[in-house]
Amino acid sequence: MSIRLVQILVGFCISFTIILLMQSCKLSHFCCRSTPVSSAPNIEDPDSIFANYDSIVHQRIKGIRRILARQDTMPADYGITIESLKRTKDGLVEIARGLEQMKHSEVIYYFYYDSNKVEGHGVTEINPITNEVEMSFRTKYKNEEVIGHEIQHAIEYERGQISMKRDTSKGFGTLYDISDETQAYWFARLAWYNITANDHFNDSTVKADNPSMYDSVPYERQDLGSPIGKQLKRNTEKEGAEGVPNSEFYKGWQKDYNKGRRLRSHTSNRT
Ligand SMILES: [Zn+2]
Repeated sequence: MSIRLVQILVGFCISFTIILLMQSCKLSHFCCRSTPVSSAPNIEDPDSIFANYDSIVHQRIKGIRRILARQDTMPADYGITIESLKRTKDGLVEIARGLEQMKHSEVIYYFYYDSNKVEGHGVTEINPITNEVEMSFRTKYKNEEVIGHEIQHAIEYERGQISMKRDTSKGFGTLYDISDETQAYWFARLAWYNITANDHFNDSTVKADNPSMYDSVPYERQDLGSPIGKQLKRNTEKEGAEGVPNSEFYKGWQKDYNKGRRLRSHTSNRT
């Protein structure tokens, strides 16, 4: 399996594109475009991409819990251990928690298939006009691992763990660190694979596997609560005060920007 992450520019949009060349995972029940499921008001999901992933994650949790409940009948000859099943279930529960956060967010997440996208690609980008997080995937292969990977980035966005620059030529977002990518690789596969299949993924191997892509990405964890995250929030406030477009998108940036704008209007009222 070869994995590469490419950052692309789509107009003003910022994109994370992942190319996963791997065995194609075909699930026939993914082909239900005519019956879109609305998971939550803020999830725009005409192709049922999010709804299907959500459903698979919950089915897996249920299935593993059922196996764990009757440990005496564990198929030991398959090489599956109770320990790895428990770890897999814990990871899936964590994903399910992230999906719930997304469903109750004020951020609009828009999922769709796009036949114009490159095969095997998933793109997560901010639409600076609508402020929506858009996730699009090539229709032909419907690679579910790519969907799982990109949704993990959305969960990270939701949790203030990643940000995206408006001008992608200036690199990844300030909050983006290698652990965000490692986490996406780990969790992308849990809906279909036992967690031990992910044991080779850590910050060092993810960097080493993709040197040209991740060389500049720091190891240090960054989020909105870290010093660099707080600086990012102050920058956004400053941009609001100066009346220039925000240079970076992150969960809740509007609040900081508007705070700056209010400061600006107070100042101009006094003069
Ligand atoms: Zn990624």
